[in-house]
Amino acid sequence: MEDQVGKAKIQAKKGRRLVLFPVPLQGHINPKIQLANILHSKGFSICIIHTRFNSLDHSKYPHFSFHFIPDGLLENDEFSTSDVTVLLRQLNVNCVGPFREILASLLSDNETHELPVSCLITDSIWHFTQDVADNFKLPRIAFRTTSICSFLDFHSLPLFRQKGYLPKQDSQLELRLREFPPLKVKDIPVIKSRSPEIVDRLLSCMMERTKAASGLIFNTFKDLEENELIKISQEFCIPTFAIGPLHKYLPGSLSSLLKQDQSAIFWLDKQAPKSVIYVSFGSIAEMDETQLSEVAWGIANSMQPFLWVIRPGLVQNSQEIARLPNGFLEAVEGRGCMVKWAPQQELLAHPAVGVFWTHSGWNSTLESICEGVPMICSPFFGDQMVNSRFVNDVWKIGVQLEKGLERGEIERAIKRLLAEKEGEEIRDRAMSFREKIYFSVTECGSSFQSLESFVDHILSF
Ligand code: UDP
Repeated sequence: MEDQVGKAKIQAKKGRRLVLFPVPLQGHINPKIQLANILHSKGFSICIIHTRFNSLDHSKYPHFSFHFIPDGLLENDEFSTSDVTVLLRQLNVNCVGPFREILASLLSDNETHELPVSCLITDSIWHFTQDVADNFKLPRIAFRTTSICSFLDFHSLPLFRQKGYLPKQDSQLELRLREFPPLKVKDIPVIKSRSPEIVDRLLSCMMERTKAASGLIFNTFKDLEENELIKISQEFCIPTFAIGPLHKYLPGSLSSLLKQDQSAIFWLDKQAPKSVIYVSFGSIAEMDETQLSEVAWGIANSMQPFLWVIRPGLVQNSQEIARLPNGFLEAVEGRGCMVKWAPQQELLAHPAVGVFWTHSGWNSTLESICEGVPMICSPFFGDQMVNSRFVNDVWKIGVQLEKGLERGEIERAIKRLLAEKEGEEIRDRAMSFREKIYFSVTECGSSFQSLESFVDHILSF
């Protein structure tokens, strides 16, 4: 009987087409493509709508169908990831017409097509897609690619303002928020922008339209964010699914926008187990030359082997590789490797990596937890501030650099994690999360079960 139900389910999925629309930024593309692959492996047919900006190489995904839409950005140099909210707000305006048109054409053959479109899955940042979907009476699932804890804090920004915590005042930065433990005022996830009113508008539209969606998914897992999962279900009142870590269901990730330098792995092969500090600040974070110098000397003074990703654009106003401080290369001779972009997931799983010094982007945090690698956290903006605080204070699987980027604190943090007893305890906790995370995607695990419920939810439309 159960077998028959299973067969009927697969048959039902084979007759369904899902439309996905990723936000064109690396940290959003990766989980969206992973989700698309998982749903495809479960029998759904996948159709991806994509902007020209940071466009995907569709030859890598012959099993999906692609539709590119104009985004109005190409001829305008002003837009870049330097002010990400201005970029996102512009995309939310520019894409409405082209997106509606392409969706209308996909839906127009629903009557005759053997695979009718049954729902739209879009990032919660694409708030305009809710109204478009409503007009077509098409259910929309919102996919938030951050942690639940940071999403809840973004949701509470109006309250933080009402309580007088915002705008942040220097005298209050270390103050703990009684209503939102373990956050300090300095961790409130504000996003710097040349247009703060655009940030507020983008966030409030995102929240409002997410509440109107037919479901909400997160790339996280229950053992990590159980309380937050309960809270979000209560506050948003829509079916919510914690189905991560998505990259652990199927092997391989092809969605990198930059070429990953494999020489990093060969270099790691020659290093002692758990000796290397892996340093990367993701695809958007920027620093100035003074901060770069502090990072470089913090690494050099720790005397540990290191692998440092210095992507073009990491240092403000320099698209080319950053200029390292005088004397740095001589000081670290023979114990470092620097690349422009690395195969991060593979690298974190390498036995030589002992610590990940990260900007606390959610994908990086989750990828590190998956491999049981303790973190040093240097959040730059937005959700990174909250992720970092949770790593340091709640999950206790890393340490946050509280003074920003300062060479003395960097050197001490590296030594704490690699050479002291406290570091061993942190590593043990990180390893125990690793076990839980692996279990979560097995057949009896919470994420696997939640993914099954999500699939049933889609089939119910
Ligand atoms: N990443 C990578 N190579 C690198 C650095 C990062 O492939 O050298 C990937 C990383 O594995 C992660 C994504 O880029 O999946 C970064 O996402 P995250 O949410 O951590 O940060 P963001 O770039 O969005 O700030």
